[in-house]
This record gives sequence, C-alpha cells and structure tokens, in this order.
Amino acid sequence: MPVIKLLPLLVCLSVNILSSQHLTDASVVCCERRDVLSALGSTLTVNDRESSEYKSSGDGFEISWNGASRGYDGRLEVKAANGELLCVNEVELADYLASVVGAEMVPGAGLEALKAQAVLARTFVETAHRHEDKSWDFCDLTHCQSYKGLESATPSSRKAVDETEGLHLLFKGQPCEVYYHSTSGGRTANISNIWPDVNHDYLISVADPYSSQSPHHSWTYVVSASDLARSLGFCDIGDVRVIERSSDERVKLIALKVGEEGILMGGWEFRMQVCQALGWNTVKSSWFEVERDAGAYVFSGFGLGHGVGLSQWGAKGMADEGKDFREILAHYYPGTKVIIWQ
Ligand SMILES: [Zn+2]
Repeated sequence: MPVIKLLPLLVCLSVNILSSQHLTDASVVCCERRDVLSALGSTLTVNDRESSEYKSSGDGFEISWNGASRGYDGRLEVKAANGELLCVNEVELADYLASVVGAEMVPGAGLEALKAQAVLARTFVETAHRHEDKSWDFCDLTHCQSYKGLESATPSSRKAVDETEGLHLLFKGQPCEVYYHSTSGGRTANISNIWPDVNHDYLISVADPYSSQSPHHSWTYVVSASDLARSLGFCDIGDVRVIERSSDERVKLIALKVGEEGILMGGWEFRMQVCQALGWNTVKSSWFEVERDAGAYVFSGFGLGHGVGLSQWGAKGMADEGKDFREILAHYYPGTKVIIWQ
C-alpha cells in the first residue's frame, strides 16, 4: 500500500512591493536570466519590447533600481500604470511572515518577542483587508505591515514563524483586530481613547514597565511657534493648552488660541497633524505636556506611536526577562488566547 501523505495547503498571498520607490525602470534577475523593465504611461516594455505584463519564471527573484536592489521569495508580476512599474509579489505565507517579523520588531529582540510578533503578523493577515479594491492583498508599508523581502527575513524571524505555525490571537473564539506600536512610555493606551469609535475588551490600557529601555521612552521636542502654526494650517498661534487627559495619560483634548478664537482638537488628531507636516519623530505620541518658552513650544512626552496593544520595546523587555511569547501576548491583550485557528 502506498503511503498517502497529506500536505498542508500552501497559503499564498500577494503584496504590492516598492510602490514608495515610484519605479519607472528596473531589472529583474530570476533563474539566471536578467530582464529590463520600463514603464511609460500605461505601456510596459520588457527588454525593449512592449508587453501587457511581466511574470518572473521561477521561485525567488532579485529586483534592482537606481543602484539599489532587493531579493524576494516567490514570484513577481509587473504591469505599468501611471508611468510607474506596478510590482506584485506572490509569496507563501511563511516567507511573508518571516520578512514582516524581521522588519517590524525592534533590533536585538529575543526569540520569544519575535514569536509574539509572528502570532500578531499572522492574525493581521486574517483580519486586515485594507486593499479590497485592488488586485493584491497587502502593501509593503506600515499601512499594512512592513515587508522587505529577504532583507528582513532572518534565521531568527523564520524560526519564530516556524515555532508558532498556525497560531493566532483570539478573543471569544474570533481572531483579534491587531494593533501594536513601538513604545508605550510606561502604560499602553485604551483604543477608544485614541479612536473614540473603536472599542475592544482586549485593547485596554495596561501598565508597561518593560519598555523603559526604549530610546523613545521619554522625549522632548522643541518647535517654533511659526512652524507649529504652519503644521496645523494656521498663520499664527497663541496659547496651546492641554484641557483633558484620559486615564491612560494620553491627551484627550487640546485647546489652541488662533487669533481671537479658541479651537479644540483631539490629542491624537493634533499629534497626527503635527507629525504629517513636521515628521514622525517630532510629537512622538499623544502622551505629552506642552509649555511655551519665548517664541517656541516645548513638548515633553512618553512613548512612540498610538500606544495600543503590544509595545514592541516592551515585548523585547519581557523576552529579556525570560517571559515566553504567550505571556507577552497575554499581558498586552488581556483575555485573549493563542491557539491554532482554522
Ligand atoms: Zn496597505
């Protein structure tokens, strides 16, 4: 009798890669063959011949552009749109997750922290559908999850994915909506204090003494009155005062004096507007105090990011103290379970 071995289904997904590079020209090496691709309007040329699309011929490829290059697992499909190469990588789930874990988790994090990130990355794949109007599942930016192909798929991140195979984060039998961030500053945020119309029992504020080694644990940012006004879309700005703070320490409401008018803004909205104009390392979170000093404002705060869910520096700290990935996830997502799903 022949032995019938049941193989697990190969789970593949598609990722729109390198869109932030706005590629007009690139070369692709696959199976020892090199192809030169160009986009002009919606016309794609492959080795100087017009083509409707390009498909790599084997598993794994390297793409080069403007003196840079990056290798990927899986296959590549390319079309031209709006004068740019539209690159989509078909990749197996495990290879995708290994790259995401390496790209997302903080440098030097131990295996158990990487395993916590792997469970979250896998759960995200099941629950986040942010490109339903496109022909790919995910982008390679933090809008979805950061994905850098082979560059961020390390032996440790592959091990973390292998050792958590099939495991997802569940609450009451359903996969969780996944939120994580860099550094809490000492206490994570309740999601409804950041986004008032979202509420989950497992995304509540918890103490986070583990992330104190983060370079973003506490910070100061000094900005001129004119730059702050410009970032918020005003010509000039007077008093800036915190009016209300939520129980997780984040600024709930901030008041701005603009001319004779008083304007109220949500703390997270304020932080996002300033960062979009002045950079993401300015007002690093909505946990801050602000003081006026001559012609400038001095922001003093804690943490980096929204503060909801797992603190990546906290996960690193817990792993360094000998906690395993289940303990790390149970701490940041109270009431959840880590189990095989599907
Ligand atoms: Zn995306």
